[in-house]
Amino acid sequence: MVETESISITRIEQSRLSKTNLNNLPFGKVFTDHMFMADYRDGQWKNSRIVPYGKIQISPATPALHYGQSIFEGMKAYRAADGKALVFRAADNWKRMNISAERMCMPVVPEDLFMDALSTLIDLDRNWIPTQEGSSLYIRPFMFSADEFIGIRPSLDFTFMILLSPTGPYYSTPVKVKIETHYTRAVEGGTGFAKAGGNYGGAIYPAKLAQDEGYHQLIWTDGKTHEYVEESGTMNLMFVINNTLITPALSDSILAGITRQSVIDLARHWGMQVEERKISIIELVAALKQGRVQEAFGAGTAATIAHIELIGYEDEKFQLPPIESRTFSNRVLNELENIKRGNIQPPFNWISKI
Ligand SMILES: *Cc1c(COP(=O)(O)O)cnc(C)c1O
Repeated sequence: MVETESISITRIEQSRLSKTNLNNLPFGKVFTDHMFMADYRDGQWKNSRIVPYGKIQISPATPALHYGQSIFEGMKAYRAADGKALVFRAADNWKRMNISAERMCMPVVPEDLFMDALSTLIDLDRNWIPTQEGSSLYIRPFMFSADEFIGIRPSLDFTFMILLSPTGPYYSTPVKVKIETHYTRAVEGGTGFAKAGGNYGGAIYPAKLAQDEGYHQLIWTDGKTHEYVEESGTMNLMFVINNTLITPALSDSILAGITRQSVIDLARHWGMQVEERKISIIELVAALKQGRVQEAFGAGTAATIAHIELIGYEDEKFQLPPIESRTFSNRVLNELENIKRGNIQPPFNWISKI
């Protein structure tokens, strides 16, 4: 038990685990027995505590509700054969949370607070990690401003929390995506590089319009010219053209995905050519027309790799090569899944054991 002195723990009276079917889990609807909370008051993080999962009390005047001053992270833990929980690249999620915090004028979460909270909570609820092949424990750290004040100014009070949600196997079904050239997710100078609540609220409507047309997701383009591809839904976008892995370079309108970085790291480790650069729609559509796009996929924590089977642009639809032919994305998906589940040793220091 890695109980940290500074975290007070109030255990649930009766675990809900025996009443939960861990073999049939929808994404994001089932939560474990406990959750972590800490308050930022008078310039300091205080009152670190683990309490039974449940409703929380907030002021109706909290700026998080009115102005979207909230940020979040998403990561996963897996159960290893020896019963240990394996967490993938947690330090990178901690770093990214603080990048988001800075942009949203929120306090940073110190590394030991983040990591102690994570490991104590996972340790307490470790029996909730599903064992079924392909399932995992989704981890949702988040922070919101908690002032009781509806003026717009940098907030003083904040709440940091972590929820754990067991989630079933995510079948990586191929997706149909539409290149969006009207609506914008993020602009230069905006908050696209931060995992900030408002970025996602604003993306629901354009995504719904595309879903009404039979697509699963959008390919966002840059907000200024709509000439360059950026991301797909909540995944980074990657292509294999001429046996080279090509992905949009990071910018302040692109979220720096940890899956994206892991795919790049493995590709380079395997000696593959990798280009992080701007990709124009003109270049992409020309390559699609000439049948030169060997692979296209989204990279993100939820699916790890989501193969793209079709790309829509204006009135045209481009069908991509069959999934079985995609040597790189299938290999990288397999490798990442095996690394996350502890089946193989990663070439990098990516796994923490709890
Ligand atoms: C979270 C997210 C990603 C993927 O990041 P991962 O760390 O790989 O999960 C990509 N794009 C957006 C907009 C995101 O919110």
